[in-house]
Amino acid sequence: MNQTVRPRIAASACPHDCPSTCALEVEVFDGRSIGRVRGAAENAYTAGVICAKVARYAERVHHPDRLLHPLRRTGAKGSGQFTPISWDDALDLVAEQFVRAEQAHGSEAVWPYYYAGTMGLVQRDGMNRLRHAKKYSGFFSTICVNPAWTGFIAGTGKLAGPDPREMARSDLVVIWGTNPVNTQVNVMTHAARARKERGAKIVAIDVYVNSTMEQADLPVLLRPGTDGALACAVMHCLFRDGKADWDYLDRYTDAPRELAEHMRTRDPAWASRITGCPVETIEEFARLVGERPRAYFRLGYGFSRSRNGAVNMHAASCIASVTGAWRHEGGGAFHNNGAIFHFDKSVIEGEDVRDPSIRMLDQSRIGSILTGDTEALRGGPPVTAMLIQNTNPVSVAPDQEKVKRGFARDDLFVCVHEQFMTDTAKLADLVLPASMFVEHDDIYQAGGSQYILLGPKLVEPPGECRSNHDVICALARRLGAEHRGFAMTARELIDATLQKSGWGTLAELEANRWIDCQPDFATAHYLNGFAYPGGKFRFKPDWPEVPFTRWHRTHDCPSIPPLPDHWDVIEEAEPEHPFRLATSPARGFLNSTFTETPTSLARERRPEVMIHPADAASLGVCDGQEVMLGNPRGVVRIHARLFDGVRRGVLIAESIWPNSAYPDNRGINTLTGSDPIAPFGGAAFHDNKVWLRKAQ
Ligand code: SF4
Repeated sequence: MNQTVRPRIAASACPHDCPSTCALEVEVFDGRSIGRVRGAAENAYTAGVICAKVARYAERVHHPDRLLHPLRRTGAKGSGQFTPISWDDALDLVAEQFVRAEQAHGSEAVWPYYYAGTMGLVQRDGMNRLRHAKKYSGFFSTICVNPAWTGFIAGTGKLAGPDPREMARSDLVVIWGTNPVNTQVNVMTHAARARKERGAKIVAIDVYVNSTMEQADLPVLLRPGTDGALACAVMHCLFRDGKADWDYLDRYTDAPRELAEHMRTRDPAWASRITGCPVETIEEFARLVGERPRAYFRLGYGFSRSRNGAVNMHAASCIASVTGAWRHEGGGAFHNNGAIFHFDKSVIEGEDVRDPSIRMLDQSRIGSILTGDTEALRGGPPVTAMLIQNTNPVSVAPDQEKVKRGFARDDLFVCVHEQFMTDTAKLADLVLPASMFVEHDDIYQAGGSQYILLGPKLVEPPGECRSNHDVICALARRLGAEHRGFAMTARELIDATLQKSGWGTLAELEANRWIDCQPDFATAHYLNGFAYPGGKFRFKPDWPEVPFTRWHRTHDCPSIPPLPDHWDVIEEAEPEHPFRLATSPARGFLNSTFTETPTSLARERRPEVMIHPADAASLGVCDGQEVMLGNPRGVVRIHARLFDGVRRGVLIAESIWPNSAYPDNRGINTLTGSDPIAPFGGAAFHDNKVWLRKAQ
């Protein structure tokens, strides 16, 4: 049909948890179906390029397995037995269960739980309005950004940096701890332009030779959790070789002489022993940085998902201050642009009715919380009722065995509002069908670029699917929750939020497609000073007081090193657990999304763990053989893939497959820990010690 009908091309934005937030052009056929999705060529960051999985988004929208009707559980939890129920009855049931939980244990017994399945401000964050209006338990959002953002802000005082499009005008692009070929293709667009037009070099730093490392001029292969040591050795070489910009250091940084003295013992031989990276490679990297001060350090999330992740992020960002890279167009360090958008989300989130005395529960510790850990519950009542939107904790949360035990509780009522029957939906009491991004209105703020974009409703949702906003408002009516946001449409919320934030109106955004929020050059490059009193970049952060907006500190951390260093708190390998495991993102998936689309499944094939051939030989493991991975948190059965693009002793399992894709129904997060990363929490997804044996 799509070949004979001429489509309308409609503007949209990618809703997924990917820093690029691409501007999209969607083929719309008849108000009900979409065709090809393309990147908007006029958008200066997207530049017409998007990833393959979103280009084929029609596979998700029109997937035969989409949830289309509300379902109520009829068999035992997890039995997969559900029966259709009307929307009215389903919403009445949720309201009844929430009231019952509140009557038995108080309002904090209800825990609305969401995350980044959509990054739209209305459909993602609206749950907070219901939470605040009803005084339900708070949601301390930790699973993704906390170590990375804290580490970056520790140096600069603010989460922002040079225009990401400036990568195209760099002499050296350092892609550190992120795999943009898999996860945000636009970084490669701009880095490749710099290489083609200026002869720039691309350095990639990672824990396995992934697709980005393959395209780099200098791939730097490390053991997981050792990035701080690499950064220190580079700074050692810069001071040693007279490549430090002392004029810049004296003017813009807090303790340059202390730093230089501290780095005297952090030489490449020291770092090589920690990282596994040859001295020659470290020297070559340092030489490139020293000779090319117009260097853009594109710092990703991956290397922060470690117990020392915040310290590693800070150490990497310090290099740009030693060379004064910030001075130059195409120079400096960049992680995320969160601070430039200054959104006032009070109408969406209901901040004005928030009671600050209500407890905050740590998202990453959902397993401990649902299994009754008193400390995780912060001394409050048990959680006995949940509404879950935009996330799939039974698959994606750490310490999976505990998470599953929690969801199996008979006294816990769970409503999951979802697009597919995920691992979490399978354990729910009630499953509600959710719309996708082309089926509702929303607004998006990029992280890896500087745009605000509109994603309007383009087609009708199939079956009885409803948007998150609709469900939240319908529940609010039943629960007597009061806030003016519940009486507004998604478009009204967008318009009000834009106006309150000083970004114009919805009509203007609709006409212009996006807003370029890039600050001026001097501000973006901190040429008027960094965002701390006194304007200095901090080599010596006051870690517990880093101005990170997620206020709840999980550690006092007296042991955090005062200056950049290798902070040895990672889950080191030892004789009983001789391997270090990282759970890096698969190219065809985005967290647990796209694990249902045919082309992604065909590409990824099955869950596998990459192991160095010499390690495999020492254990008698052959390519393709089933092996068991284990640690005190659990055991996973998985197929081995022999791969010489990892250091000896390192394992990589690209993720996140559904639990049902594993022979024993135990997903890779069975092995990951939920102990909080210092100083503001987070999960160390790439910091796991494990043993490996041939499966029986
Ligand atoms: S690269 Fe990222 S933002 Fe762009 S379309 Fe793909 S998932 Fe979306």
